[in-house]
Amino acid sequence: PLPVVAIVGRANVGKSTLFNRLIGERLSIVEDVPGVTRDRIYAKAEWNGVSFHLIDTGGIEMDEEDEMGNLIRIQAQLAIDEADAIIFLVDGRTGLSVQDEYVAEFLRRSKKPVVLGVNKLDHVSHHAASYEFYQLGFGDPIPLSAEHGTGTGDLLDAVVDVL
Ligand code: GDP
Ligand code: MG
Repeated sequence: PLPVVAIVGRANVGKSTLFNRLIGERLSIVEDVPGVTRDRIYAKAEWNGVSFHLIDTGGIEMDEEDEMGNLIRIQAQLAIDEADAIIFLVDGRTGLSVQDEYVAEFLRRSKKPVVLGVNKLDHVSHHAASYEFYQLGFGDPIPLSAEHGTGTGDLLDAVVDVL
């Protein structure tokens, strides 16, 4: 089976925009996967000769605490469990949020390789906004703009490196 790459992050960071960008331009879709067609969140993709399945985890929702306290509930958990690598997407315009911290903690526990993408940095002059995300502990944050398609090649290079 092909490796699975899931795009994970809090709501509104641009996951679906990135997914569409990646399958629309930078990657060639070989086929859609039958039976997993809902909202077309699952596509077979290829980068530099490496094939994988890409998943848009959709609206990731979590409670800050559940009734037992401090437990994170993430609807995308199954996709994360299935994934061989994670694209952790954050919003470089709003900056680091407490929800990003919750997602980060969840991803650390998953022990999956994580590539950190800092989205919505539409101009090179905004790239310095990615630095604060170093503190999440996932290595070099990769500045990108899913809307403009810049930085996505660097992101994919990092992804196929960990597959
Ligand atoms: P999701 O909830 O994580 O799937 O986020 P969406 O893909 O639905 O995007 C949320 C909002 O962010 C939309 O209004 C997008 O147009 C906007 N957005 C996504 N990527 C970018 C980007 O690279 N730059 C800017 N300026 N806006 C973006
Ligand atoms: Mg979405």
